[in-house]
Amino acid sequence: MRVLVTGKDGQVGRELAALPHTEFEMVMAGRGDCDLAREESIRSLVRRVAPDAIVNAAAYTAVDKAETEQDLCFAVNATAPGALAEEAARLGALLIHYSTDYVFDGTKGGPYVESDPVAPLNTYGASKEAGERAVAAANGRFLVLRTSWVYGSHGKNFLSTMLRLAQERPEIRVVDDQIGAPTSAGAIARATARLLRQYALPSTSVPSGIYHMTAGGSTSWCGFARAIFEARSAGANPQAVNPRILNPRVVAITSEEYPTPAKRPKNSRLSNDRFNLFFGFHMPQWQEQMAEVVAAVRQPNLVSFLRTPGERE
Ligand code: NDP
Repeated sequence: MRVLVTGKDGQVGRELAALPHTEFEMVMAGRGDCDLAREESIRSLVRRVAPDAIVNAAAYTAVDKAETEQDLCFAVNATAPGALAEEAARLGALLIHYSTDYVFDGTKGGPYVESDPVAPLNTYGASKEAGERAVAAANGRFLVLRTSWVYGSHGKNFLSTMLRLAQERPEIRVVDDQIGAPTSAGAIARATARLLRQYALPSTSVPSGIYHMTAGGSTSWCGFARAIFEARSAGANPQAVNPRILNPRVVAITSEEYPTPAKRPKNSRLSNDRFNLFFGFHMPQWQEQMAEVVAAVRQPNLVSFLRTPGERE
């Protein structure tokens, strides 16, 4: 089975590339192979590769910058997935596409389910919501997997930012009134491989639709930061490191005390019930995923990891 993966250099793309896919022929595409802002570039890539399945791990994820780059953000997050979905439908291939908790406004009292009305607060969320609709409109076989707060051992993300700040200051102020499920890129990649195994063959019936696929449990950004430092301290050699650097004081603040160009939802919790029921497995708890990533970055490549440039959701 040939699987075309876009966004090979992103957080999820790199984890997909690192999986042992003995049963898949993975064709990994990056920006150099296909510019997702150019529709003809997408169509010619898909026609050239002729995949059985496509995993679209590419996206415009610079949430704050999107407020001033709306056209580019919509081209990559809405038009491009639509073109991928049309090409997939033409081939009878399954498209797996990722979306986000940011399609919601965060005012619901409990976890969001797939049928809840969308109401994005920012350009990025609106573009991803438009992407979901474009994928569905192609009438092919597709899975839109909404996930949240993605981080991993590659690229710049919340975890890498916290570890970098811990080297620079004894106290870090972190937003405590946004609640969600930090989900590791590795866990997303492993779940994606499982879905491909189960549903990519044309002979299997594909339950096309939107599914919430986040880590189990939830926390605030502040809770996530504290847990990261605790996990790092727990595995560290106290003789080898400065304990203040490992464990800075994390001060809880409100979203209003940390203004950003793009507004974020306060409640980002997504219910995975539909995913669990349909696919028959659960995503691991966020603490378990975080411990795995902290262990992966603790040792050899920490310095280069901390220095990787970029801006992520
Ligand atoms: P990353 O930002 O880590 O990676 C995105 C990739 O898309 C990058 O490799 C980037 O290329 C590529 N890309 C961007 N623009 C283009 C373009 N015009 N042409 C070709 N490639 C392009 O994303 P994640 O791995 O974090 O996200 C994976 C999915 O999960 C996305 O759909 C995202 O919306 C969704 N998601 C992410 C969340 C998060 O917190 N990050 C939260 C919820 C959902 P390059 O490396 O060259 O810049």
